[in-house]
Amino acid sequence: AASVEFRGVTKIYGKSKVPAVNDISLLIETGKLVTLLGPSGCGKTTTLRMIAGLEFATQGKILIGDRDVTRLPATERDVSMVFQSYALFPHMTVRENVEYGLKFSGFTRKETTDKARAGLELVGLVDYGDRLPSQLSGGQQQRVAVARALVLEPQVLLFDEPLSNLDAKLRRHVREEIREIQQKLGLTVVYVTHDQEEALAVSDRIVVMNNAIIAQEGTPRELYDQPANAFVADFIGEANIFDCEVESVDNGRAKVRLGPLRLDLPAGSHKTGPAKIAARPRRILVRDAQSAGTMPGRLLKVTYVGSHLEFMIDTELGPVFAVSPEVDTPFAAGQAVGVALPERGPVLISA
Ligand code: ADP
Ligand code: MG
Repeated sequence: AASVEFRGVTKIYGKSKVPAVNDISLLIETGKLVTLLGPSGCGKTTTLRMIAGLEFATQGKILIGDRDVTRLPATERDVSMVFQSYALFPHMTVRENVEYGLKFSGFTRKETTDKARAGLELVGLVDYGDRLPSQLSGGQQQRVAVARALVLEPQVLLFDEPLSNLDAKLRRHVREEIREIQQKLGLTVVYVTHDQEEALAVSDRIVVMNNAIIAQEGTPRELYDQPANAFVADFIGEANIFDCEVESVDNGRAKVRLGPLRLDLPAGSHKTGPAKIAARPRRILVRDAQSAGTMPGRLLKVTYVGSHLEFMIDTELGPVFAVSPEVDTPFAAGQAVGVALPERGPVLISA
């Protein structure tokens, strides 16, 4: 396995005026599963195809390990890719499909057979070698596609929305299988999805993309707990976003005015002036009206959703969405309440 590095990479297709990928720099470390996450059209597939050599960068450098592969053709990159459509050969058996890529790699007949068998074993399909793809379920077909890519022992394994054609339950199962194999073999995997839950579940690190740039990169926990901007706060999980004013910054702490509340928050790189705050619904507390340190509000709606309660509260900052792990509440819709944002809940994000 090898690392992948982007240095100031831009991709502009043909005569297009807007870049599909705009000046991205990124290091994907060896043996990690890194997900490119973002809405449709943000540049995920383009980024992946540039690693594979299926598209060339318009500007910048791409390295695999310490090799500069920027101008290297796909066949010389030692990378394999698994697509959303499994792209199996329908007239070949499962075994023949897995052996296919190996035929051109200079292995003996025996080596090819052994490697294909080991690959099918890894994805739990060793007993299905003689079947045709059409005789397998969608999940099994995708596992064959994974085996076919794995047996080539690539330096980097790429997945482009590999689970999109599977139903929800199977998606969960196959994604866990991919993660297990990746960890067991120490593979470098770059995984593309637009599904934030999938990204949080499988990744060592997530690269959130929006409009051809990287909105933020970090561990799932960092992105969830410390989103850098409104896009990330909204795209990963749910968030309340409020306008606020940073009144002063001292020793890494910021004194922040949020409506009637005064908060003391980690300043990060924020300076005095207008900013925004992101607060997860679970980090917002509904209290009795006029409790100390709360902002006045009126409860618009209480919804029981089985595992927890959801509150919608009208405040001077606008509607506030809060979630309580309790399933019982003394509060009812229409009632005046106090809204609290306890420490370690809200985070400053860029305005
Ligand atoms: P994603 O995978 O995140 O949905 P893509 O990388 O496929 O995004 O696309 C990024 C942008 O580049 C989009 O605006 C898309 O329309 C454009 N694009 C993708 N492929 C091509 C192509 N072959 N020719 C021209 N434009 C393209
Ligand atoms: Mg895509």
